[in-house]
Amino acid sequence: MNPQIISTIEILKNNIRFDSRLVITCHQKPDADALGSTNALALFFESLGIKVQVISPSNWASYLNWLPYIDQVINYEKNKQQADEFLNQADFVFCLDFNALDRVHSMSTALKLVPKQKMILIDHHQNPQSSFFEYIISEPHIPATCQLIYYFIEHFDVSKLNTKMATCLYAGIMTDTGSFKFSSTLPETHVVVAELLKHNINHQQIHTNLFDNYRQNRLEFLGFILQNRLDFLQNGKVALLLATAEDIQKFDIQTGDTEGIINLLFEVKTVEIAAMVTDRLEERRWSFRSRSHHDVNMFAKTYFNGGGHQNAAGGKSHDSLENTVQNFKTHINNYQFK
Ligand code: 5GP
Ligand code: MN
Repeated sequence: MNPQIISTIEILKNNIRFDSRLVITCHQKPDADALGSTNALALFFESLGIKVQVISPSNWASYLNWLPYIDQVINYEKNKQQADEFLNQADFVFCLDFNALDRVHSMSTALKLVPKQKMILIDHHQNPQSSFFEYIISEPHIPATCQLIYYFIEHFDVSKLNTKMATCLYAGIMTDTGSFKFSSTLPETHVVVAELLKHNINHQQIHTNLFDNYRQNRLEFLGFILQNRLDFLQNGKVALLLATAEDIQKFDIQTGDTEGIINLLFEVKTVEIAAMVTDRLEERRWSFRSRSHHDVNMFAKTYFNGGGHQNAAGGKSHDSLENTVQNFKTHINNYQFK
């Protein structure tokens, strides 16, 4: 492991006191890696007797409601005043699983008011906005923030690691590695997972909770959009899937219901880049995935006000669905496949 991570953890271990007040947050619309990280870290600090508050910048998918510690997490959009107080009083603010302050949406104003010397980043996205943070653990080659949180706990006080923390960490690592399938999965990831499995976690139940936990509407929505809203470009190398505002409403699609759908597009063997756009009324949300060297992080950053990782990124547009799709088609048709 990068020795600088260990030295940052050692510095934090010296600076965080038993009477410190900590806030832990993550990106908006958090996924299992984001909430797995926040909750494992909160459980860890609580086991040391340190006060902590987890704040999610927004709501989260209901399929995450089984995660340990989830009932202690507050939603910034619903409890702004209370959350702002926690942020004001915090001695340290841990920012997990995001690289830029616009990833916390309406919470970014409050986060920008926190003095830099209190700000800690632990993340695995490319191009972190480093100027906002005093302490930085930014490891884009690590497949999940939960793997970094494991290292944090390991070097802070591994004797405290328990089943609940291990469950949170396994959930995040498993999701962000696509169940250990993505090329980002490292030998070290499996070593960490082996350690987590020693803590009596029920890995089969975690998979069921995350992947087989939807309402019937999701399957019906999936069938409909695959039949009616799927397009192939660049001789089948690009798959594009749309969900209109009407589709979202008709099938009652909620936060989290679209999770994982984009990965199905790779079942077509010619596909090298997959894109999905969802009309969320307030904005058009883009998801991009790619195989091998195709850099969707760069693509999302350049054309869709987003970012992420080389093979998985997201973005947004305030154009109409029709215009943003046209925009995508123009740029992707100009993309040179090599
Ligand atoms: P998803 O398509 O699952 O929403 O996101 C894929 C990856 O890209 C995730 O790692 C996510 O954190 C990142 N991502 C999604 N949307 C954005 C965005 O608007 N800006 C940035 N910087 N990253 C994003
Ligand atoms: Mn992540």
